[in-house]
Amino acid sequence: MGERSVKATLLGIAQDAGRPQAGCVRPCCADSHLDPSLVRHPVSLGVVGVDHSTHLFEATRALAWQFECWHDADPEEGPLDTLWITHAHLGHVDGIGLFGREAIAASGLPLHCSSVFAELLQRTPAWALMLEQGVLSPCPFESGVVISPTEQCGFTVTPLKVPHRAELSDMHAMQITGPRRTLLFLPDHDAWSETLESMGASDIRTWFQNLEVDIILIDGTFWSADELHHRDQGTVPHPPVRETIESLGPRQEGDPRMVFIHLNHTNPLHDEESPEAQMVEQMGWEIGFEGMTIEL
Ligand SMILES: [Zn+2]
Ligand SMILES: [Zn+2]
Ligand SMILES: [Zn+2]
Repeated sequence: MGERSVKATLLGIAQDAGRPQAGCVRPCCADSHLDPSLVRHPVSLGVVGVDHSTHLFEATRALAWQFECWHDADPEEGPLDTLWITHAHLGHVDGIGLFGREAIAASGLPLHCSSVFAELLQRTPAWALMLEQGVLSPCPFESGVVISPTEQCGFTVTPLKVPHRAELSDMHAMQITGPRRTLLFLPDHDAWSETLESMGASDIRTWFQNLEVDIILIDGTFWSADELHHRDQGTVPHPPVRETIESLGPRQEGDPRMVFIHLNHTNPLHDEESPEAQMVEQMGWEIGFEGMTIEL
């Protein structure tokens, strides 16, 4: 097998609950209940290294579909080499059990996660059993420390701790650097003020420049701050897309590509014909799609 490029594939663009969301009878999910092509899966990212090794970021319940999507976009055979988890919220972890004996029956799968998440694995009976059975092999990382997932994969991962409601575990964005490009995977965060403060940056553009990233897959959960009419949006804080693009303005020369992911079922960006989606694109920013590939 010869060398290949490092390639990332976006395997899900929905918020944790997916689209349609269970129990949603509102217009936002009506079409996706009827048309399987409009179903969207929880956020997930696959990366293949120059050594043909395969690395998955997030373990969602849509794993079967996502492996197919990944294989269609970037065909590689063989078992998964490493698994990475950003944080413990539902859609990012509810597929962990699929690596166990009832399904894939992995053995010694390296699971890169924070030490807080590694402790949660121990304290969660179903996951503790998987550790006991040798299915998963936790590899705790530290924020800011560069990791090479396999010796010859040709890319590195730097987890960056980001403020996000931490009832179960802390949250780490993943900075993934290949020979040609650097990608930041930031599916969830609470507020720009908190993220920028923790990163020591005065504004979003300065932070992007400090990171030296070429492309950012970023939290686009809600379009606006008043999107959840029936419940208190303050209990699930995410910076609304409108706030992010208004604060940045149109994409300027030298800006990275910014691609919105982690879209809630209520988000009008699910419909590419919506005025909101057109506004994002007219400003030079992007909305992620499942199967989208990025050479790193
Ligand atoms: Zn999430
Ligand atoms: Zn809905
Ligand atoms: Zn979350």
